[in-house]
Amino acid sequence: MAKAKVRDIGYDVKPPEGVCKDEKCPFHGKLPIRGKILKGTVVSDRMQGTVVVRIDYLHYIPKYERYEKRKSRIPAHNPECINAKKGDVVRIAECRPLSKTKAFVVIEKV
Ligand SMILES: [Zn+2]
Repeated sequence: MAKAKVRDIGYDVKPPEGVCKDEKCPFHGKLPIRGKILKGTVVSDRMQGTVVVRIDYLHYIPKYERYEKRKSRIPAHNPECINAKKGDVVRIAECRPLSKTKAFVVIEKV
């Protein structure tokens, strides 16, 4: 069987096994990724082609010399070939604005 054409996204991740015809897929479409790479958990997969990813991080408070937990929710494009589901830990990459709220795309299930 012929191997599906996969673009090199310039970041060292395993390309997805599936194929898709999504223009906004960094592997099979023509979406360049640049900027931040973040890791988080999918908390919602109810939208079409979009997931919400929660990023947990620690913020240092100098006065108390301790960290506080913070979180951020980032809507990210979910290409068909990756098809991340709720509960998955994924890596997302910054890209051009894809819609009013989306400027990230899922690039890998971790
Ligand atoms: Zn794809």
